[in-house]
Amino acid sequence: MHIMKRTIFALSALVFALSNTACSEDGLDDKSVITGIGYEIETPFDEWLLENFIEPYNIRVMYRYEDMESDMTYNLVPARYERSIEMAQLVSYLCLQAYDEITGSRDFIRANFPKDLFFVGSPAYNNNGSIVLGTAEGGTKITLYNLNTLDPRNVDALNSSYFKTIHHEFGHILNQKKPYTSDFEQIVGKSDGGIRYVGNSCWEVYPTETSALQDGFISRYASTSDGEEFVELASIYVTNTPEAWETKLRTAGARRSMIEQKFDIVYKYYENDWGIDLEKLREIVLRRQQDVPTLDLDI
Ligand SMILES: [Zn+2]
Repeated sequence: MHIMKRTIFALSALVFALSNTACSEDGLDDKSVITGIGYEIETPFDEWLLENFIEPYNIRVMYRYEDMESDMTYNLVPARYERSIEMAQLVSYLCLQAYDEITGSRDFIRANFPKDLFFVGSPAYNNNGSIVLGTAEGGTKITLYNLNTLDPRNVDALNSSYFKTIHHEFGHILNQKKPYTSDFEQIVGKSDGGIRYVGNSCWEVYPTETSALQDGFISRYASTSDGEEFVELASIYVTNTPEAWETKLRTAGARRSMIEQKFDIVYKYYENDWGIDLEKLREIVLRRQQDVPTLDLDI
């Protein structure tokens, strides 16, 4: 599904880029047009995004109705202006600044985080009825759905609906830039009891999280493929408390060591290939999450 969609996105991204170039050339006399990146300031939020996303990171947040044309796969509703502001604040505080803090500069996000963040108001559904929380296309774009039901003070809901997804999709992008070693998938391949990756059947093969954990997968979706499992391990680790992580490992029972072996490869990959200690990143993310109930989300 990712591959099919990527082709569509590549085309529409090209059209978008071309039409944007045209817009900024037409509007050179308008001081609100930032030439070169096709960015037009129409709202206070646009101004805030310029200062907090574009200038520091070269990341563009697309939240308007016009941006919706770029997704032809689903019937989608645009994100509300207020929800988009809250989400942008939260992405900045809980995610971008967390990576800045651990790496000591904005360079890591600037060099590696996708350049386009796409906000959608409604959920998107797969053919099998499951909800798509987020997608990453070709390493350049992350889409977050269902923003119109955002509860910006509910940390658990933020994690399960958005932030686990952002770390997950960002993980795919890092993996595209630097592949992980083949030892990772061999852990499942060599396991006893006939455990294997099950692709799109993950929801049927593993009807509960417990059933997936007991086969050595950190989540139901992690059983899809080694690529999904790798980023599930990273994203679930950094968004969960040590206690919650330990509860998952304990639930895995006899397969606990299988998860630990896999996580060890994930941990070393982030440390050796990216200079990121996932345990420290988790501490930073959890500390920032504690600020969410009182965080100033206005612009
Ligand atoms: Zn994925």
